Amino acid sequence: MIRLTRRELLALMSVGAATVGVSGVGGMLYLLLNSGRRAAPEGTPPAPPSTPARPAQIKRIDRPPIVARADWGAREPDHSAANETGFASADNAEGWLDYSGDLRDVYRTVVVHHSVLYEQDDVMTMREIQTEHMDKRRWADVGYHFGVGRSGAVFEGRSLRARGTHVAGYNTGSAGVVFFGNFQEESPTSEQLEAGTRLINWLALWLELTHLAGHTEFNDWSECPGANLIYYLNALAESAGLARGTGGYQDPDDVLDGGIEESGESA
Ligand SMILES: [Zn+2]
Repeated sequence: MIRLTRRELLALMSVGAATVGVSGVGGMLYLLLNSGRRAAPEGTPPAPPSTPARPAQIKRIDRPPIVARADWGAREPDHSAANETGFASADNAEGWLDYSGDLRDVYRTVVVHHSVLYEQDDVMTMREIQTEHMDKRRWADVGYHFGVGRSGAVFEGRSLRARGTHVAGYNTGSAGVVFFGNFQEESPTSEQLEAGTRLINWLALWLELTHLAGHTEFNDWSECPGANLIYYLNALAESAGLARGTGGYQDPDDVLDGGIEESGESA
């Protein structure tokens, strides 16, 4: 099995298409998916993504295109929400928590989810996820930090400055990324896998993450993100130079000031 450090990944990406015959993050995913993994689960997964050649000597991963909240019609956070009322404190663990200081000191893990629901297109799906989280779960905002649509569009969710609401008991320092679809029943599209890989590679380098986990690894009563997306998580982790699993989680006392406890909510 190929095991790449971040340094090796960057070196490989900077070599580009001429040497390895593939390029960019999509190319890395192609390499990883074709390096002796087990067979795909029921149903045929999409062909590995391919990307246009990247110029040589790229030393960092550019921020991928992300649809801003204003551009998908996001509602503003509601700090009177019943299950995420006000702001977090020692007496209000479930309140909204804005991280202070350098986000690299807070985030360790990216947690991957599926939405289960899907509306007529990616924009409507992102809106529906926010509606469900705000109007049914009664949270202050959408619980995830990013959404990845079937088309490959990436959506800005809750600000990364704020603690997410997506993995019960382990939200502190966990960036939440939801892929649109029900991956117990369907497979992610190649555009979606490619966009998600770019997003997670960028987050991993920028935030100096250490781990990638599927939601079910933290909350074993959940099937999220579904078998047909879980199938790709080792490749996603390896392409971003991340270890797989829950080992990166830090006790909130080591991350936060003021004795604020963990949020118990999950999506
Ligand atoms: Zn989930």
